[in-house]
Amino acid sequence: MATLLIKNARNIITMDAERRTFPGGSLYARDQRIVAIGTDVPYETADVVIDAAGRIVYPGLINTHHHLYQTFTRNIPRAQDVELFDWLLTLYDVWRELRPEDVYLSAMVGLGELLKTGCTTAADHFYCFPNAVSGELIDEEIRAARELGIRFYPTRGSMNLGRSAGGLPPDEVTQDMETILRDSRRVIETYHDASPFAMTRVGLAPCSPFSVSEDLLRETARMARAYGVRLHTHLAETHDEEAYCLEKLGLRPLEYMERTEWIGNDVWYAHGIHFRDDEIRRLGACGCGVAHCPSSNMKLSSGVFPMRKMLDAGVKVGLGVDGSASNDASNLLGEVRQSYLLHKLAAGAQAPTAEESLWIGTVGSARALGWEDAIGSLEIGKAADLFMIDARKLEYAGALFDDTALPVVAGITHNVETTIVGGRVVVRDGRLVGVDEGALAFRAQTAAARMVAAAGRRTGIDYLRRR
Ligand code: ZN
Repeated sequence: MATLLIKNARNIITMDAERRTFPGGSLYARDQRIVAIGTDVPYETADVVIDAAGRIVYPGLINTHHHLYQTFTRNIPRAQDVELFDWLLTLYDVWRELRPEDVYLSAMVGLGELLKTGCTTAADHFYCFPNAVSGELIDEEIRAARELGIRFYPTRGSMNLGRSAGGLPPDEVTQDMETILRDSRRVIETYHDASPFAMTRVGLAPCSPFSVSEDLLRETARMARAYGVRLHTHLAETHDEEAYCLEKLGLRPLEYMERTEWIGNDVWYAHGIHFRDDEIRRLGACGCGVAHCPSSNMKLSSGVFPMRKMLDAGVKVGLGVDGSASNDASNLLGEVRQSYLLHKLAAGAQAPTAEESLWIGTVGSARALGWEDAIGSLEIGKAADLFMIDARKLEYAGALFDDTALPVVAGITHNVETTIVGGRVVVRDGRLVGVDEGALAFRAQTAAARMVAAAGRRTGIDYLRRR
């Protein structure tokens, strides 16, 4: 059994129900589980001992929405300065070039950045399966997560409503319903682990109302419930989506979800910006979760998430970086600060405090994923998932008056010093353990450039020029 002792921290921020902090505190874990925490920890040594003098320990951040493969289509000039539908139409053609190796490398980059910015559990929504590419693409990102040691929640996404059937995506990135359901079953049976300290859990995630059929939504919900796995999709992200639903279905997006059995405490949506007040109350009453993605919402001009109304209604709000192509980063600590600042601007005194913002990125996200029994806060019996910053750095000098708020309010440099997942050190001195970051970066950029060039040859579009 492996043991871990973090001792004499400047402070331990627990985010437990009482929001306790332990100045001068220590933490002891056996395997994945926290056995002792506080100022009177009765352990002197362990297999791994970290002297945390000057460091502040926080619960690991939890990312509730991402598309890791989009790490390879960041900062593409052709896809800038447009809103969601045009952004998607531009990038679908590049994503057609995805090969298994690209999925692996982009996940290594995206998950690597998440770990380096304090994230210990990451959900991903993988929905792009180009039909010219054989192979089991989602398996490649699971391979990357295992290599890096991050707790991973991949969701098997899908699109079966191509352009010829009235949907938005080109037919070439869609699959038929039978193929989707067969592979969804395979992914659940191969990878899903429902135990509290699972390193991999699986969900099912048809992409959005404008890219999947009504029968696929309903069949997916039924399959998920038969297996006891959770459901995830994009919803109420843009006015374009709302107009699409009203025109094609005669329903508002949430009404469509209700008609297809896509509501309940086993569902979390991404974005959730354009809900009416009565809809927010319905979401709260049924225990739905929502992944709030502030950078993506700002970049694609989608709108401002109704944070206070959501929290007051009891909706389980978590935080997500969304796909890297609409962010364009996988920086979760940065996203906590982004959420904090966005709502300060939009809602003034109604906005979450720095402490609440951190809570949303930890406990809030755990609740959105239905995993609050094991992750989200630092308590005896929960997972030793945490990150540490060195409060003695220049960037924090003059700001050491509230350790809980510190990385949110004064979060100038977002890379953390240490990240630990399930008691195992995965980021040390700000670098990924066991990964040659320079070599990985080179391979990844080379692969991304190949994808963009191949798409350009096929479509005749120069993706490196602005529109
Ligand atoms: Zn998304």
